[in-house]
Amino acid sequence: PDRRPLFSFASHTSSASGVPPGFRPPPRRVVVTGGAGFVGSHLVDRLLEQGDSVIVVDNFFTGRKDNVAHHLRNPRFELLRHDVVEPILLENHVLHLYIIKSGFLNNYYKTNVMGTLNMLGLAKRIGARFLLTSTSEVYGDPLEHPQKETYWGHVNPIGVRSCYDEGKRTAETLTMDYHRGGGVEVRIARIFNTYGPRMCLDDGRVVSNFVAQALRRQPMTVYGDGKQTRSFQYVSDLVAGLMALMEGDHIGPFNLGNPGEFTMLELAQVVKETIDPMATIEFKPNTADDPHMRKPDITKAKHLLRWEPKVSLREGLPLMVKDFRQRILDE
Ligand code: NAD
Ligand code: UDP
Repeated sequence: PDRRPLFSFASHTSSASGVPPGFRPPPRRVVVTGGAGFVGSHLVDRLLEQGDSVIVVDNFFTGRKDNVAHHLRNPRFELLRHDVVEPILLENHVLHLYIIKSGFLNNYYKTNVMGTLNMLGLAKRIGARFLLTSTSEVYGDPLEHPQKETYWGHVNPIGVRSCYDEGKRTAETLTMDYHRGGGVEVRIARIFNTYGPRMCLDDGRVVSNFVAQALRRQPMTVYGDGKQTRSFQYVSDLVAGLMALMEGDHIGPFNLGNPGEFTMLELAQVVKETIDPMATIEFKPNTADDPHMRKPDITKAKHLLRWEPKVSLREGLPLMVKDFRQRILDE
């Protein structure tokens, strides 16, 4: 088996510790679980572009083959249909990206926990670096604003969202446990709401809902009074942050998000201006335990990863709309 450790250069290559300009890491073999999904497929594009080999492991639960179809003829790319709840034997580096988010189904906790456990086991066995894509949801309905990585969070352990929130919290715990106890090299990103082309059209997240609704000339569904806030990050910024984290020396966790904060009513207004000045909104009851506000403090990532987002909501949204318009036309 190819035992080139994926990030053997890591201890002296983070931008914080002075990577020479033009430095390119040696090619690596990277496993991306959930690589046919929204974030995963953009990361795969970036990894292949810089010369790495990529194995995508995905069960196509929310992901689509279309998202990676442009790589199918690339000899450095492989696509495996597999559910990460089941163990998998691979000789590689492991990036852990799978997600289940929409609808908060019962088995999400199991997927988060078993999937993370299996991938950590794989990383330990082959000596690979492991990156966990955790989430801002670990902060729950936060009592601290904006949220720093030092905040422990405010999560209802038995609420309807808990399978996701607690699933990711447990995934972080497992990751640190394998690091401390098993010597696995790990990285943890806490990703804040991210949008962009290839997002699932119908998984119920707010940006995809509003954009699809406005394009279909349906009212945008605002839950609750619409005064709750989120901070929206464009996917290319997230990918840049994940790459900096993988290649850097710091374990994290790091908040990766755009501090630009919007109420849902403000978001609906931006979508309206971008897509259709005639678009309307419709109020619907909110879901239980919905966080009232969310905004990342990204001081840590700015200092240690030399990373910050560049694309504002008004710049990023039209790029997503172009992709959604095409997909909705093709339906
Ligand atoms: P996504 O649903 O588009 O992608 C997830 C991918 O994982 C899909 O391709 C899906 O088919 C696959 N998958 C799900 N269950 C699986 C299983 N059991 N086995 C194998 N594959 C499985 O979601 P995304 O937005 O791209 O999210 C990617 C990661 O980023 C997730 O870990 C998620 O928790 C994290 N995250 C995303 C956001 C966001 O706003 N997009 C915010 C916070 C955290
Ligand atoms: N939301 C909304 N209309 C929708 C979908 C979501 O108003 O059609 C609200 C939801 O109540 C929440 C916010 O948008 O306050 C973000 O929801 P999402 O599921 O996108 O992300 P998360 O809650 O996980 O941050």
